[in-house]
Amino acid sequence: MELFFEGKLSAPIVAACARCAEDFKTPSARPFRFVLAPRAAADGADGRLRSEDLEFSLYDGDEIDLAPLVTEQLILALPSRALCREDCRGLCPQCGVNLNQNQCGCVEQANDPRLAVLRTLKLQRS
Ligand SMILES: [Zn+2]
Ligand SMILES: [Zn+2]
Repeated sequence: MELFFEGKLSAPIVAACARCAEDFKTPSARPFRFVLAPRAAADGADGRLRSEDLEFSLYDGDEIDLAPLVTEQLILALPSRALCREDCRGLCPQCGVNLNQNQCGCVEQANDPRLAVLRTLKLQRS
């Protein structure tokens, strides 16, 4: 017997911002559909039961453990590159201050190694 599950997973998840590393909550909602087929039936079916748009799993015996399937859906629902907000300013590359919360006195420096060489040359001349 094949079993069809259809539903929607919605849970607030806590993710770490890719720019400023702050934790933030984001709502996630992910519709899912999956089919469970008994392993015995699938063995003789040459994979014909598989369908591209459905998650497909097998079960043994009379008991079905949905936990791993739900966990998998949860993992899929996680954003791969999460930002706490679209215009997150991230961390100062020089002092590490969270620029969303604080301003630091750092001036953006061009870390050009050629400039460093020039500085050294000037020092030597004087
Ligand atoms: Zn952020
Ligand atoms: Zn700074």
